[in-house]
Amino acid sequence: MDKAVSTKSERGKTAAANRLERPSRAEAEEAVRTLIRWAGDDPTREGLLATPGRVVRAYEEWFAGYNENPRDYLKSTFEETGGYDEVVVLRDIRFESHCEHHMAPIIGRVHIGYLPRNRVVGISKLARLVEVFARRLQIQEKMTAEIASCLDAVLKPHGVAVVAEATHQCMTTRGVHKPGVTMVTSRMLGVFRDHAETRQEFLAAVGMRGAIHGNGSG
Ligand SMILES: [Zn+2]
Repeated sequence: MDKAVSTKSERGKTAAANRLERPSRAEAEEAVRTLIRWAGDDPTREGLLATPGRVVRAYEEWFAGYNENPRDYLKSTFEETGGYDEVVVLRDIRFESHCEHHMAPIIGRVHIGYLPRNRVVGISKLARLVEVFARRLQIQEKMTAEIASCLDAVLKPHGVAVVAEATHQCMTTRGVHKPGVTMVTSRMLGVFRDHAETRQEFLAAVGMRGAIHGNGSG
């Protein structure tokens, strides 16, 4: 019985590994040629000849986050904080991501706050953390929650607050065509969730006082 179960799970693992196996660069370029034909153009005409190669290289940049472990950026922390026990806020961290429903760009800003417990992290590391999660296929709600829970798990602060504001090109350039619409998501953990005053202090620092309540995501 045990043997049968483990064989089945081995087979399951192999199937999963096959699904995630990366195609070759040539296969990826061929897929772009297919999409060019789908759009109605001729991938063999001169202006489009080098396009598949460029698109595949652009994908390496846009989706570089799959090759990185976000926790790596939070490894080095500073413990000499001189008794600093107030909220740390980093606002207006620009990000570029892609929605997992249309693979269209999501462009916006993330604001991060945390109340340190003995150790702080370099501010550039917070920006890198945002990049790792942004450079994947995303939905904004998930990205906001992932940034918050990673910071919370690694730094173990008294609380974490993350707000993201972004425009989704799948909404502005297609579908309902609503330019100028910004989506706001937030994730509040620890003191930011439990204490309205701390939450308001953070929201005021990022210019969003009163905009968000303490119910986690939304
Ligand atoms: Zn979309």
